[in-house]
Amino acid sequence: MFTLRAAVMWTVHDFPAYAMVSGGSTNGYMACPVCKEDVTSGWHAGKVCYLGHRRWLPWDHEWREKDKEFDGNTERRLRPREWSGDEILEQLNRLDFAPFGKTVSRTRPSTHLNWTHKPMFFELPYWSKLKLRHNLDVMHVEKNVFDTLVGTILDIEGKTKDTIKARLDLERMGIRRGLWMNRDNDKARSDLAFFSMKPNDKKEFLKFVSSVKFPDGYASNIARRVNVDGGKFTGLKSHDCHVFMQRLLPVGIRHLLPEDVVKPIMLLSRFFSQLTAKRLRRTDMFQLRHDIVQVLCKFEMIFPLAFFTSMMHVMVHLPEEALLAGPINYRWMYPIERLLGELKKSVRNRAKPEGSIIEAWVQYESLTFYGIKCFARRIQSFPSRKDNIARRLLPSSRKRYRPFSFSFPVNPKSQNFGGENVFCATNRILPVAQG
Ligand SMILES: [Zn+2]
Repeated sequence: MFTLRAAVMWTVHDFPAYAMVSGGSTNGYMACPVCKEDVTSGWHAGKVCYLGHRRWLPWDHEWREKDKEFDGNTERRLRPREWSGDEILEQLNRLDFAPFGKTVSRTRPSTHLNWTHKPMFFELPYWSKLKLRHNLDVMHVEKNVFDTLVGTILDIEGKTKDTIKARLDLERMGIRRGLWMNRDNDKARSDLAFFSMKPNDKKEFLKFVSSVKFPDGYASNIARRVNVDGGKFTGLKSHDCHVFMQRLLPVGIRHLLPEDVVKPIMLLSRFFSQLTAKRLRRTDMFQLRHDIVQVLCKFEMIFPLAFFTSMMHVMVHLPEEALLAGPINYRWMYPIERLLGELKKSVRNRAKPEGSIIEAWVQYESLTFYGIKCFARRIQSFPSRKDNIARRLLPSSRKRYRPFSFSFPVNPKSQNFGGENVFCATNRILPVAQG
C-alpha cells in the first residue's frame, strides 16, 4: 500500500474552454486572458480588434513615433503588466459572483471586468503560486492565424478581413489612404489591396500547392483540399494548416507578393516552426519573443485593423509560455483531439453516445489487456499506436469497435483477469483463450 499524490500542473484547452476553466471571459474588449483589462482593443469594422503591439517594443523604438502608418496615434505606453496568481486570487475574493441558476440575472457589473466566476482550481492550495495555470493552445492559435492570413492574402470571399467595412473603417480613421474606397462616377468600389494576390498569381499559388508531394505519413494529401478553379481551400484540418504554415506558405508566396508583405509572413512561419519544435532553447525563445512583436507591428502597418482578431494578439504571449513551461508538443490539443475523434468514431448508437463510448472503451481495454497476456512472448512491451494488438485482432478493416459478440469463462489457473468474462470480438483469439 502507498499513498498516491497528484497535482494539477496546468490545463490544456481551446480558447472558449479557457474562459470556462480560468473564470475570465475570452470575448469582448478584455478578451486576452494574459493582458486582461490592459489589452489594447477597439471596435473596428463591426467587431472588436486587438492592436497596440508597439507596446512591446523598446521605449525608444522609431515605430513608436509613427502614427499614420499604424492606427493614427503614437505609442507611449509600456507593455501590459503581468498579474501574479496571488493578485488574481485577491481580486476574485473581493468580487461577489451570482450563483449559477436560470432565475438569476447573469449581467456582469462593470467592477467585475471580464471575470465571470471564481474557478474551483483556486481551492487548490498551490494554484495561486503557479506561474502558468492555463495554456494557450498553439494548435488552434496557429490554425486561426493561418485562416485569417491566407484568407486575406488570397482574397478568399468570406475569409478575407479586407472587407468594404474594413476599408470604410480606415477611411473614417484617416489612415492608409491607398486602401480607401475608390469613388468614381458616384460609385464606390474597393480595388484589390497590395497585400492580396492578383487572380493569375493566386492560380499559380494554388497550382503550386496542389503539386506538392510530401513523404508518407508527414501530412495528409493537401492537394485534395485545393480548389484551383474556385480559388479557395476546402476542408483544411488543423494539421494541414500546421504543415502549410511552416512549409508551403513561405515558399509559395515568395515571388507573388511585395517584399514588405512576404518578409513578415516568412518570419511568422519561422516563428511557428521554432516554437513547435520538439526541443527548445532559451536563447531561441528570447529571439522569438522579439520576432513576434516585429511581425505583429509590421502586420499592423500592412493589413486593415479588422485583421487583428484575438488569436492574432495572443501569439505575443506564446514564447513567454514556452519559457515557463517548455516544449509545446506536451501542451497542445493534437493528442486530445485525436482521442476525442477516436471516441466519437466508436459511437454506434447515436441515441446513447456515452454508453457506446464506455462499451467500446471497455472492449478496447479488455482486448488490449488480453492481447498482452496471450501474446506476451511476441510483444516485448505495451503495443504502440501503430502496432496495437487489439486493433489487429479486430475483424473490421475500418478499425472500429464491434459490439460484443459473445463472452466466455476464463480458466482462472491460466489467466488471472480479476473478472469472470473477457469480452471477445473475434474468433481469432478464441482458440488461444480456450487453450
Ligand atoms: Zn495579451
